[in-house]
Amino acid sequence: MSTEALDHASVPNMTTPAVRRLPRSRITGLPRQAVTAIALSVVAITVLFWVAAGGLGLFGQGSTGIVQALGQLTGLAAALAAMGGLLVTARPAGLERRYGLDRMLAAHRWFGITAVFTVLAHTVFDTWAWAESSHTNWFSAFAALSTQQAWMMGAAVGTALFVIIGSTSYRRLRQALSYETWYFIHLLGYLAVILAFGHQLTLGSNFAGGTVARWWWIALALTTLALVVWSRIGVIVKSLTRPLSISAVVAESRGIGSIHVAGPGLQRMRVSGGQYFMIRPLARGLWWQAHPFSVSAAPTTRGIRFTIKASGEDSQALLRLRPGTRVLLEGPYGTFTTDRARGRRVVLVAGGVGIAPIRALLEDCNAGQQPVVIVRVSAEADLAHRAELEQLVESRNGTLHVLAGSRAFFSANDPFQPARLRAVIPDIAQRDVFICGPHAMESAVIAGVRKAGVATDRIHREEFSV
Ligand SMILES: Cc1cc2nc3c(=O)[nH]c(=O)nc-3n(C[C@H](O)[C@H](O)[C@H](O)COP(=O)(O)OP(=O)(O)OC[C@H]3O[C@@H](n4cnc5c(N)ncnc54)[C@H](O)[C@@H]3O)c2cc1C
Repeated sequence: MSTEALDHASVPNMTTPAVRRLPRSRITGLPRQAVTAIALSVVAITVLFWVAAGGLGLFGQGSTGIVQALGQLTGLAAALAAMGGLLVTARPAGLERRYGLDRMLAAHRWFGITAVFTVLAHTVFDTWAWAESSHTNWFSAFAALSTQQAWMMGAAVGTALFVIIGSTSYRRLRQALSYETWYFIHLLGYLAVILAFGHQLTLGSNFAGGTVARWWWIALALTTLALVVWSRIGVIVKSLTRPLSISAVVAESRGIGSIHVAGPGLQRMRVSGGQYFMIRPLARGLWWQAHPFSVSAAPTTRGIRFTIKASGEDSQALLRLRPGTRVLLEGPYGTFTTDRARGRRVVLVAGGVGIAPIRALLEDCNAGQQPVVIVRVSAEADLAHRAELEQLVESRNGTLHVLAGSRAFFSANDPFQPARLRAVIPDIAQRDVFICGPHAMESAVIAGVRKAGVATDRIHREEFSV
């Protein structure tokens, strides 16, 4: 590894803190009632506006009226889905801490898919309605709509952007693109929503004119904008107020190193084992993008540690940073924490660099939880933090199982077969299972522990790929 390995002696001792450990975070989210209230009001407003603006009446006006009504409905649905998609991807802290990154991204995907299909349907219905009412063909109707109506050119460009964003999110195309290309294309989503907004107010029959509906709609859009700006920019501003910098970079195992971050700003942070931060080093070529990394040791007032696999350009660059480099930590985020456990005892399963959050979760466990830790690596040399794991397991009345072997070996000898799991952990069905590792390994563990009797809501996973 090209990491500049520093002397271990210069690294703050993370397992036996000299200074008091920061209190655990109370992970609170928006109250369930608030989420329900928001959802209901969005539905109520939509229905109310549509009925009040004569949407229902359109159904009685023959085929053109029906097509117009469908155009209105799909337009409203597209706009709401786009706003919802932007909101969840901005990860407002309350929502993120309640639902976790996985579910927020899943919601974003569904909002995105809905927005793309409804915006296309809206374009078709409106062109159709325009063609019927002006007795012209679809092509002329589309050209007239896009070029002669106020804000419609913007809406057409916005629609094209939605289609580009939607198609590049299709799994196969997404995999063919670099993360950075995909990310910048995705950023165009903001522009698409802004471009499409004008025509809703000038042409949208629900909102044109000085109706209450119009002001509700403007308020909804402004609230979404404020939340997105606060969640996106606010966290950066907040992290700028915490003076933190790299204190050490250490080689841990083959291809894996850790960075230690220290500074007075740590005193204001409350972090649980299993949570992650978006790390933004203020170094040339790295400042413009933040990458997610889990804390691998419970933070003390002396430092916080991240264990990083040199997988791509930026993670390699992170492991080459010099002590003293200023870093911004945005977060903490995540719901992969021991307080999610329903029962007392736990099983912690890590694959490769998944050891990072698992190591921190282990530190959060107490002896009553009797943690059984299973670590899957290709070779013993790949296991990071072995000494710490052994010490933590012993002090918490737990056991450590290291499974070293190639993928081919484990696919022929699945260590997560229910019978094997039950032999090693007889009370597995009464335990909560926390898993972090490559996708295929996570799936194998989930299948095995479910068959071994672990209830679905006792299985907790952290996904490193987005
Ligand atoms: C919640 C979470 C916690 C994580 N914790 C750790 C950890 O503790 N240790 C560790 O080694 N890795 C962790 N990762 C993975 C780590 O974020 C990626 O490996 C890293 O961002 C890769 O960046 P790169 O430029 O080096 O590689 P690239 O080759 O550019 O990217 C490889 C893959 O990493 C993901 N990725 C890249 N950039 C980002 C980004 N800005 N935001 C989100 N995903 C991105 C994408 O899936 C991409 O396909 C975590 C990921 C997530 C989502």
